Amino acid sequence: MLSTMQDVPLLVSRILTHGSTVHGRSQVTTWTGEGEPQRRSFAEIGARAARLAHALRDELGVEPDDRVATLMWNNAEHVEAYFAIPSMGAVLHTLNLRLPAEQLVFIANHAADRVILVNGTLIPLLAPLLPAMESVEHIVVVGPGDTSPLEGCRPALHSYESLIEGRPDRYDWPELDERSTAAMCYTSGTTGDPKGVLFSHRSIYLHSLQVNMAESMGLTDSDTTLVVVPQFHVNAWGLPHATFMTGINMLMPDRFLQPGPLAEMIEAERPTHAAAVPTIWQGLLAELSANPRDIGSMGHVTIGGSACPPSLMEAYDKLGVRLLHAWGMTETSPLGTMAHPPAGLTEEEQWPYRITQGRFPASVEARLVGPSGEVLPWDGESAGELEVRGPWIAAAYYGGADAEALRPEDKFSPDGWLRTGDVGTITHDGYLTLTDRAKDVIKSGGEWISSVELENAIMAHPAVAEAAVVAVPDERWGERPLATVVLKDGSTVGYEELRTFLGASVARWQLPERWAVIPAVPKTSVGKFDKKVIRRQYAAGELD
Ligand code: ADP
Repeated sequence: MLSTMQDVPLLVSRILTHGSTVHGRSQVTTWTGEGEPQRRSFAEIGARAARLAHALRDELGVEPDDRVATLMWNNAEHVEAYFAIPSMGAVLHTLNLRLPAEQLVFIANHAADRVILVNGTLIPLLAPLLPAMESVEHIVVVGPGDTSPLEGCRPALHSYESLIEGRPDRYDWPELDERSTAAMCYTSGTTGDPKGVLFSHRSIYLHSLQVNMAESMGLTDSDTTLVVVPQFHVNAWGLPHATFMTGINMLMPDRFLQPGPLAEMIEAERPTHAAAVPTIWQGLLAELSANPRDIGSMGHVTIGGSACPPSLMEAYDKLGVRLLHAWGMTETSPLGTMAHPPAGLTEEEQWPYRITQGRFPASVEARLVGPSGEVLPWDGESAGELEVRGPWIAAAYYGGADAEALRPEDKFSPDGWLRTGDVGTITHDGYLTLTDRAKDVIKSGGEWISSVELENAIMAHPAVAEAAVVAVPDERWGERPLATVVLKDGSTVGYEELRTFLGASVARWQLPERWAVIPAVPKTSVGKFDKKVIRRQYAAGELD
């Protein structure tokens, strides 16, 4: 028997309409580096998003399902694009500005982008790539910047402000199929070629509800969130959409992502929350110890994208800022878990829960699968590959304009679960602990060593700023760990001392024999440790 409920499609346009009216006074503040930041209300953003949609349709001829890409920092105009493009029925494609040139070209061609919105400051990055981006017909320049490198390029050139000026403040947003694509994002390619994930209106809507739950980020219109995680990294973890549902104010850093300006904007604008990968928080910590500033406005911070070292949590606890660990992937929109401890525990009892990746929300089902395909118990001990399913989890990758969707066997099980490639355990009450990515586990003499466990233990040493551990070939054991270490400014420490320190928390047979001090851990385009590069450097003899 069907229900008697209304079947209203869950659309991005509904989030926009709600946010720009009911929460019209909430604000997006964009850092400008000098003078007053730019402040724009949600109501203004709603009106400007309507103008942008008119311009895209009437001036640039954008049709339903056309891909409109952004090559932009986190700022108010990027939020306008986030809402205008999907709401009119086109597809928002966020381009990751830190990818190597050939990957950006591959992605733009694969997605068949027709239009690119580019921040003026990023023109030097885009201009040389345009001749190879075959489908691009229009470039829209957003904000100041020297446009001379674009002169004479094939696509037509527009200025964002002139394009939207004088157009209507309202748009009759179409009733779309909630399952149609609102946005697309390519995985950052840490472990292979970038793959396109298509988010539906429905998945974005449901994911936004989850982001707003107290169980997840739990913010309200009295909060301001500092969105450091880029809008090109899995929709800034869903924050721009979620904020328009509940009126959370956003502080956008634009291109000012270095620790100094971040510390300055936190002290000046006093956000109550922030979201970013661990490397950002490591960098900020070093900055604060050299140039102390008050960052105490941030009650809590969402940290994820790679494992958060417990030592980092402890350091921020001392500053009165609570880091809340979360796990996710592009394929999971990304919210997969969040490490809120169960109620009623003392600080000390909460600690073992806080350092897990967190527990699953109701809409994310999880199972652990062993090497021969058996489903393992949630007993906190049995380790296997994590598989998930749910309404905001990908069921396939985008195959390209005329191709079928891709469901590679190593990424999707025959019964439709996403194989995450992450290995870990789950406790009986649903807390996930990841020990590694399947590809990063060190297989030493038939036993597995967790690179993450070693890294966390090394990073607890007071002289160590960062540590990345990778598997390297070993004649006797097959593979052994190589520990690469970045020392804090002015610190010195010998390998023997580090080994002894590590020996206090790690079994003897797991202790690395190979060590290298490096100036910085190589990072991927979204700030994760790039272990491919370390393995390559070792193979080339550069780390001896
Ligand atoms: P890519 O796979 O290209 O790096 P994603 O940003 O989608 O792009 O990365 C998802 C992966 O990041 C996860 O599969 C997992 O390995 C890692 N990850 C994300 N959050 C965490 C976390 N809190 N702890 C450990 N690993 C994490």
